Amino acid sequence: MKILVLNCGSSSLKYQLIDMDTTDVLAVGLCERIGIDGRLKHEPEGKPEYVSEAPLPDHDVAVKAVMDALLDKDHGVISDISEIGGVGHRVVHGGESFAKSVIITPEVKAAIEDCCSLAPLHNPANLIGINACEKLMPGVPQVAVFDTAFHQTMPAKAYMYALPYEMYEKHKIRRYGFHGTSHKYVSLKCAELMGKAPEDIKIITCHLGNGGSLAAVDKGKCVDTTMGLTPLAGIIMGTRCGDIDPAIVKFLMDSEGLTIDEVDNMMNKQSGVLGLSGVSSDFRDLGAAAEEGNKRAQIALDAFHYRVAKFIGEYLVALNGADAIVFTAGLGENSGSSRQAICDYLTFLGIKLDPEKNSQRGKAQCISTEDSPIKVFVIPTNEELMIAQDTNKLING
Ligand code: ADP
Repeated sequence: MKILVLNCGSSSLKYQLIDMDTTDVLAVGLCERIGIDGRLKHEPEGKPEYVSEAPLPDHDVAVKAVMDALLDKDHGVISDISEIGGVGHRVVHGGESFAKSVIITPEVKAAIEDCCSLAPLHNPANLIGINACEKLMPGVPQVAVFDTAFHQTMPAKAYMYALPYEMYEKHKIRRYGFHGTSHKYVSLKCAELMGKAPEDIKIITCHLGNGGSLAAVDKGKCVDTTMGLTPLAGIIMGTRCGDIDPAIVKFLMDSEGLTIDEVDNMMNKQSGVLGLSGVSSDFRDLGAAAEEGNKRAQIALDAFHYRVAKFIGEYLVALNGADAIVFTAGLGENSGSSRQAICDYLTFLGIKLDPEKNSQRGKAQCISTEDSPIKVFVIPTNEELMIAQDTNKLING
């Protein structure tokens, strides 16, 4: 069976068509600038890349353009739409309603709608994608896979904020966590690489990309994570500040004369390693600048590594020890120097990286030494495959 995986943003749509018999990716693509002008980039397996600049006024047209690209006689990869057995949608926020992926029904759509206030930039776009697929592929099962679902196993002591309890009851203000599909994928893969059942091990997963989060996974279940009500919380990120003293918001409004929206924008888009360094939100640029002696770039990198290491320390407490630490996503998979800098804080535990293995890229493997009591892994994440697998499982019982 072939599964189409869709990740709809407000002006973009990423897709992959995956053959579940082989897990081969038959095509991967991206529609950008939806509602502005439009651009589609389609990369079929074994065929040349195809780019179209035809207008994409809305998501219906974008989904139709994806279908046309998949079916095209030159750059297509299927000959009939009926070859698509199901569509898996990445949905950012499932609130407390979804601890697992689900087949989309009118009730599920209503519940996703209810979560729009918790993810106003993402959930409405996800719903638009779902509606567009229902229109263009009637009868094809659609599945929602939530970024928040994996974290729903957290206990109340981990997800409650110390605000008046009514704020939780009235507005569902609590820690939700994100990147759940990635944390789940790499924790399962880690268990597989260790030759253990997920139920028998404790893992700390570090998803370090432009956005980033850590999760503490006990016996296959998430017990804590760094992101919160929104993806602004936790570690320092590319442009997001992560955890800060909440009183800074009012202080900034008073001292800089900013509105609440301007402060929100500053914390989301002008902070993180970009704000600290003044150089870039991209860790590659930061590394290069730091090497050339840029002090602020070095401070940004040091602060980032320190904060990640401190959360690992927190999660060692939450889990009462751990069997493995996993690095994944853009930086986690590719930067040996960042992995080393983070693990340098953990030598008191006997954790040691193998320099040769730590310098390799793109391979799922253990990068710690034989005698390291807590194993360290690099595992390339694959959220699309996880979404396709959940979709396949739900459709085929
Ligand atoms: P997201 O999905 O959150 O946009 P990714 O997981 O794709 O992010 O990660 C992107 C980030 O990974 C980039 O901003 C870059 O900083 C970092 N990155 C990628 N490759 C490297 C590398 N070789 N060295 C250091 N950082 C890297």
